[in-house]
Amino acid sequence: MMDQVIFMNGEFVKKEYAKVSVYDHGFLYGDGVFEGIRSYDGNVFRLEEHLERLYDSAKSIMLAIPYTAEEMTDIVVGTLQRNGLRDAYIRLVVSRGVGNLGLDPSSCAQPNVIVIAEKLSLFPKALYETGIEIVSVATRRNRSDVLSPKVKSLNYLNNILVKIEANLAGVPEALMMNEQGYVAEGSADNIFIVKNNKLLTPPGYVGALEGITRNAIIELAARKGYDMKEGVFTRHDVYVADEVFLTGTAAEVISVIKVDGRIIGDGKPGPVTNDLLYAFRELVQEDGVKVYGDKVSII
Ligand code: PMP
Repeated sequence: MMDQVIFMNGEFVKKEYAKVSVYDHGFLYGDGVFEGIRSYDGNVFRLEEHLERLYDSAKSIMLAIPYTAEEMTDIVVGTLQRNGLRDAYIRLVVSRGVGNLGLDPSSCAQPNVIVIAEKLSLFPKALYETGIEIVSVATRRNRSDVLSPKVKSLNYLNNILVKIEANLAGVPEALMMNEQGYVAEGSADNIFIVKNNKLLTPPGYVGALEGITRNAIIELAARKGYDMKEGVFTRHDVYVADEVFLTGTAAEVISVIKVDGRIIGDGKPGPVTNDLLYAFRELVQEDGVKVYGDKVSII
């Protein structure tokens, strides 16, 4: 077995030595940005889009990433190569770096750039056949005019509170509303509902992260001729939907068959959900950056 190595600021470090200082503002204040990316059989799905979101998030919080997107592509590819991975979950973290105890980021000389790639612990296959149960929770999504949900920052407390509520309810994921009570998203997934063959997902301004998987599903739905719209909806619309599904890098496309005790449709993954899941699983094999093709890493 190969020793796992982690990219840290220009070098590969064995997992047990990959440590950051307690003075890193990512640790002290959640000051930083990150991405969760996935490689499918040596194809890093939509790496370009993930990096665009990372650089946009960093720009928004005035964090200068000391690599170009091209260099970062090589770093991600190189991390997979160095770990001999084809199917992997990749975590890219850029924290503000080491500073003093005050929150002022100008005390931080340089960001910490970390890329971790590891073998994927797949969602149990059975869940895609049975679908999952979720609940809606009291925790509201951060207001989009306070901390934009488009910034994928290290400040995930909002989502963690949702996850705690999901755990307490004994379900794998939960749904949060925005401050007006409209459905926003899950703790780490976007939501879609299907009614009379029409698909609806909340727009970014409601308070959802613009997920890479979400965007891929919007494209696939349009390509397949479904009536697909971004629009505002409430929990009621979720309860009476024919189908509900969640999307995310880890979950891909997963059917939801019960919400707050209401059975969705006939309580089984529906045809639109399955159609899009299969189309997504084809897409992830081709659309992205090849790790073991002609792309040779510079690192
Ligand atoms: N919403 C939140 C809050 C998330 O953390 C994630 C996971 N990145 C998603 C939605 C799904 O986004 P993606 O499809 O890019 O993984």
